[in-house]
Order: sequence, then C-alpha cells, then structure tokens
Amino acid sequence: MYDISRRRFVVGATTATSVFGLGKSIEFMPSAWAQAAAGDRQNPRGLTHYRFNLGDVEITQIFDGEVLTPPNPNFIHNATVDDTKAALRAANLPDDAIPSSYTVTIAKIGGKYVMFDSGNPPSSQPRTGRLLANMKAAGIDKTDISTIVITHFHGDHIFGLYGEGNNQAWPNIEIVMPAAEYDFWTDPSKTAPLPEGRQGLAKRIQATFPTWKNIRRFSGEAEVMPNVKAVSTPGHSFGHTSYLIASGAQQYLVVGDVAHVTQLFVRNPGWHLSFDQDPKEAEATRRKVLDRIIADKMMAGGYHWGMPGCGTLAKDGNSYVFSPRA
Ligand SMILES: [Zn+2]
Repeated sequence: MYDISRRRFVVGATTATSVFGLGKSIEFMPSAWAQAAAGDRQNPRGLTHYRFNLGDVEITQIFDGEVLTPPNPNFIHNATVDDTKAALRAANLPDDAIPSSYTVTIAKIGGKYVMFDSGNPPSSQPRTGRLLANMKAAGIDKTDISTIVITHFHGDHIFGLYGEGNNQAWPNIEIVMPAAEYDFWTDPSKTAPLPEGRQGLAKRIQATFPTWKNIRRFSGEAEVMPNVKAVSTPGHSFGHTSYLIASGAQQYLVVGDVAHVTQLFVRNPGWHLSFDQDPKEAEATRRKVLDRIIADKMMAGGYHWGMPGCGTLAKDGNSYVFSPRA
C-alpha cells in the first residue's frame, strides 16, 4: 500500500537541496520536485491507495497527488490569512501552505469498476496526476474501469478525461454526468458571466463534451447505476452532485467538493472557498450534507480530504470533526 516512488522523492529532496542550497526551507519552494520530496501533508503515510469493503462493494481510494498554496487573502473570502494559519496549526499542519490533495474513489460493484471523477492528467506529475500509477499499485489497470462518474466540471475533476490535447483519455467507456452541470457548462450564454479564470475551462468543455458520444447524462437525484444514487449538492458548482453508494445497511457518500480540505472547511463550515460558484448556497449545502452524513451514520469521502480520504464525522458545536478511517 505504500508508495514505492517515495524513494524517488527522497532523491529529489537531496538534489533540490544541493542544487538550490535551500536546506531546511526546501518545503517552501514552489518547485514540484521539492514539494514531492517533502512528502504529501494530507497523505502522511505515503499511501498509494486504501481499500475496504462496504457490504458487497469494494471501495479503493487512489491518491492522485497534492499541491501546496501559500495562505493568501484570496483563497477564502471570509477568513483572514491569520485565521487560515491558525486552523492549519490546530490541525497539526505547517502553516506556510494550504495542502490541496486529490483522492479518487473507485467502487467495484457487481464485478465492475466505477471511478468517481478523473484525477489530474499524468502530465501534471510529480505533484499530481499520479492516479494511473497508483491504480496499478492497487492492482487496477486502466482497462479495468468500466464507468467514470463526474461530480462537477472543475478542471481537477475532469482534466483526467483528456489525453493528448482535447482527445479523450477514456474513449471506450461510459462517462456519467449530472445534466444540470452539463447544461450549464456547455451553454456559452451561461458561462459568459463567469470570471476570466474560468473561461478557458468553459471553452474546453464546449469544444469537446458535445462531441463525445460516450457521455450519459442523468437528471436530478437519479439512481445512476445499481448501488449508486445521485445526491444534488449545488453551490460549489451549479450542478455539483455527490453520490451515495449503498450496500445492505452500509452507506458511503462520495462528497466531491461539498467540503474542501477538511482541516479548514469541515472545521469551519461557514468559510467561503474562492472556488465556490455560489458561496452562500455552497455553505447551506455543506451544512446540510455534513448533518446528513452524521444523522444517517454514513461513511464519507471528499476529493480533497487526503488519504485515506474517508471516514466519519461528528458535530462539534457549530463545527464538525472528521475522523479518517484508521
Ligand atoms: Zn476540486
């Protein structure tokens, strides 16, 4: 389960240190190699994957990587840099950077592998884009995947669908998408008011998805396949959708980006992430979903929750506490 490529990262650390002479401050470097060398803060055990059974369904969490962002006033609308740093320290994380990690959930249902979101493209290695390599470590080949289910259309969730340029990386399998999200992003009149930083994403989607024949859209809270039901969770993105995987009495919610990095947004559910399309709706959805996870005794996993990236939640006053699976 441990990432064999960790050794390579250690070599990277030595190299980066000697080349740049940065010594201890190496982890502050924006360089991808330096970051990889320092290890992934949201994956302290260096896991490539993490597997468990949910009734008859086998769940495998695959680590795709992590990026570090220095705390800055633009990351969270209603929290200061000092608030952010204090929250990181309270979670026993260094306060020089917000660690945004990427974890892809793969569920084996009735012998078929269903993947939730697509990771970052392999070209973004070594920081991210480790999905395919880490799937291999988990004994899952790319050709084993039969369906990819998408939570929303932000780049870190869909760019793994692309191969060279705008070609498909997964042309022969079914890609399942929420119609609400699809209808928004493929309509230029709806995406025109988005900020400049989102225009490239919108154009890429509009140039590709309408031509891809292997996309299946569903409406509302449909049962998208046996054992998997969509849960409408708008706010972070217009048609953001979570997925409830159930087997017998056991339930697992693929949360997506309803709550970003747990140490910040589960602890502080009222904080507004700058990537939220509608921050107020995102907050209302977040509180509702986190409450439901607790009330229904579900296990939950978020895309930016590190490794193992899944666990249980408890209420703590007006806040929440996330306990990762051991
Ligand atoms: Zn995301």
